[in-house]
Amino acid sequence: MKGGLRYHRAVEEDHAAALAALMTWKTAVVNVPFGGAKGGINCDPSKLSTKELSDITRAFVGELKEMIGPNIDIPAPDVNTNEDVMAWIMDEYSKFYGHSPAVVTGKPVNLFGSEGRSEATGRGAIIVLEEWLKDEGKTLKDLRVAIQGFGNVGSYAARTAVEGGAKVVAVGDHGGGVNRAEGLDVEALAAWVREHGSVAGYPGADAMPSEEVLTWDADVLIPAALDGVLTKENAHAIRATVILEGANGPTHFDAAEIFEERGITVIPDILANAGGVTVSYFEWTQNIQQYRWDLEHVRQELAKTMRRSYQDVRRIANEKKVDLRTAAFVLAIDRVATAALSRNVVKQSLSE
Ligand code: NAD
Repeated sequence: MKGGLRYHRAVEEDHAAALAALMTWKTAVVNVPFGGAKGGINCDPSKLSTKELSDITRAFVGELKEMIGPNIDIPAPDVNTNEDVMAWIMDEYSKFYGHSPAVVTGKPVNLFGSEGRSEATGRGAIIVLEEWLKDEGKTLKDLRVAIQGFGNVGSYAARTAVEGGAKVVAVGDHGGGVNRAEGLDVEALAAWVREHGSVAGYPGADAMPSEEVLTWDADVLIPAALDGVLTKENAHAIRATVILEGANGPTHFDAAEIFEERGITVIPDILANAGGVTVSYFEWTQNIQQYRWDLEHVRQELAKTMRRSYQDVRRIANEKKVDLRTAAFVLAIDRVATAALSRNVVKQSLSE
């Protein structure tokens, strides 16, 4: 199984279980041979020192060491966890079981991590967006993008979108929001965030309240922070025509209905942000084989997977005349059910 490890005040068991279920469908959409998992610690890392974070992570591994493992459950980074946390997990686990780089992914590249893992989720999301745009007869060129969250997913989605010719016109995070109609300098903004911890106060743009990013005047909205941010309260005010779900579960069901009525396309999380687990799988594969892929190879394989997955989902959406989220679930559930049937475990209950 595979899924992210989250350090946040909102972490609790039911929430983790829901996110783990989403991971099952996500890995199936991209045909990555893992089931779903999720985990986390209910804490506020901004109030903890690096030493405290390391101690908590190592204690967590001590408690869970029988439940994780290269062939059991392989954590990866998620909200407020990064390559340092993954390195501590590998180090602690290896103290019990010997050298085990494949126990966790998203490690530093100099410590058995994969080239291209940190950029993978944001980059993969933009590859999917480009495929959707192609179907609409459009390209990224001059497209105006608004992004909620400028952490791993948001910042790499921004960079990749700009590489493709789009303009990032607004960004909001936990500390505040910034906008610039001509497009933000995303590298300068990322450097500011590295130093100050938030986009707030960035001098190269106008300031705004963080939540305004969701309803900003843009062609594409990328929620790339937390879940449940698009609700029936704000769905009518969204101005983008396409929502690319970088975060997991950002859209409430009732908001989704409003988007459907309004003709706003939602590219669902289990497709849009599956680039992360895809390259995590590549990292695990490299660890098992004790071999390293170069960045170009990782990017090529990621692009191949994201394009193929988008096309699989789109084909089902067209055939069954359903939205992209429903189509992605049809694809994923069918794959998981077919595999279960091939094992002959659930034949009877399915035929019932
Ligand atoms: P991160 O910790 O690197 O970044 C989170 C961002 O969200 C930060 O910019 C933070 O300021 C912002 N944020 C937090 N609270 C906010 C609030 N109340 N309002 C506005 N912004 C807020 O996390 P990440 O890894 O980029 O993950 C973001 C989302 O993407 C999560 O839903 C995660 O599950 C999902 N995701 C991540 C990956 C991955 O590879 N990291 C893969 C798939 C999905």
